[in-house]
Amino acid sequence: MPTYKVAIVGAGPAGYFTAQSLQKAQTDGLTFLIDMIERLPTPWGLVRSGVAPDHPKIKTVSKVFEVIAKTDGFRLFANVEVGKDVFIKDLRDQYDAVILSTGASVGKKLGILGEDLKNCISSADFVPWYNAHPDHANVDVDLSCDTAVVIGAGNVAMDVARMLAINPTELDSTDIAEHALAKFKESNIRRVIVGGRRGPEHAAFTAPELRDLPKLENTDVYIDQEEIKRAYLRIEKLGEVEKDLKNNLEAMKLISEHQKKGVDRSLELKFLATPKLICGDGKVEEVIFTINEVKDSKVIATDKTFTIKAGLVVTAIGYDLLEYSGIKIENGKIANIAGHVEHNLYTTGWAKRGPTGVIGTNKSDSADVVELVIKNLKEPKQSEGITALLKSGHEVIDQLGWEKINASEIISGELVGKPRIKEVDWKRLISLGRS
Ligand code: NAP
Repeated sequence: MPTYKVAIVGAGPAGYFTAQSLQKAQTDGLTFLIDMIERLPTPWGLVRSGVAPDHPKIKTVSKVFEVIAKTDGFRLFANVEVGKDVFIKDLRDQYDAVILSTGASVGKKLGILGEDLKNCISSADFVPWYNAHPDHANVDVDLSCDTAVVIGAGNVAMDVARMLAINPTELDSTDIAEHALAKFKESNIRRVIVGGRRGPEHAAFTAPELRDLPKLENTDVYIDQEEIKRAYLRIEKLGEVEKDLKNNLEAMKLISEHQKKGVDRSLELKFLATPKLICGDGKVEEVIFTINEVKDSKVIATDKTFTIKAGLVVTAIGYDLLEYSGIKIENGKIANIAGHVEHNLYTTGWAKRGPTGVIGTNKSDSADVVELVIKNLKEPKQSEGITALLKSGHEVIDQLGWEKINASEIISGELVGKPRIKEVDWKRLISLGRS
């Protein structure tokens, strides 16, 4: 019975769903030994360090990851960095297939003046900061101002805006990083403005996330009703309207009409506003936006601007890939055809298709790539795998080690009514995994 060795690089949703697809494809005549390699001492990728703490339901997918991880033939090698501890070229020699599921973790830049001012922070730093990612624990976040601007009209912008706009007591029972909760509790921010450069009909928010906004208990959410009416008029002219867009606009219309509570915390979604300049004396003080308009379905800049006085700017405008030596990146993705990079090298998830899609998107996407992997398999390699490549004494966090970390975090959380208290220190994570 041929058994093939597959290395999956990256222990996020794409990596786990790739492993699951390989496991599901096993037959009496075909089995896989799957080694999942992860740079951090902890797995789960964006489920741990991306999903907003006030969205615990989304995180329940980690139960599926644990079933995959406990299936025969699966091994976790966390605290192993590809490009430093092991190299793609060597992995390709040791494994029948190597699948890069490394996501996209570098925040895109606006490319405008003032972006480098203090307290202008990318979501690529801000989100992992509040989610206890060990590399982002020390991000310098100043919440002493009363107004924050979030740039972008996607779900990450919405997560960030919600985190800034809700009453932090709503986060008490979540797995938010302890350092971030303490900062949010001292925050003076009461007004959060989200700026999208195109119209409501072009926004990348999704309807379930929009529908949650009016349910916020301590925050009033505003969208200009006239803006939504104009968006409806524009799309009606275009003929049949796609279901997702209809749902999105309906959800935004509901927000615009929703009775406000009269509380002191507000979150406002603004459209057709491109950030032009961020001003301040060493630190963010205001953002100047160009007002856009939609003409013949095209978004064009007018010569009008408006200014928002704000002490914090978070840019949530998408992600780029971290570069690996010898791996070509094209249009924000690893250059690939249907997930195939070259010879025995493949890619899945955001690394394959760019930073789009929700966690579940990775399921079907990975299944397609695994089909291709199987089609291209040759004679199984007689090799040792990653253990032949790691320096002796390299401290790997394996599945058992991760389970120790996981249990310790959950127990600490249980004592104070939280799902877990995440350990944020890299060295302590390793020692928890060792104990
Ligand atoms: P996204 O959905 O692609 O949204 C990026 C936003 O940034 C767009 O509104 C885009 O506007 C804007 N943008 C890009 N460049 C800009 C610039 N130079 N100036 C101003 N605005 C700019 O990306 P994301 O929010 O990072 O989310 C990534 C993926 O994760 C998405 O598929 C999202 O749905 C998913 N996600 C899901 C959840 C959830 O399910 N709860 C939570 C978080 C993320 P244009 O459209 O004009 O380019």
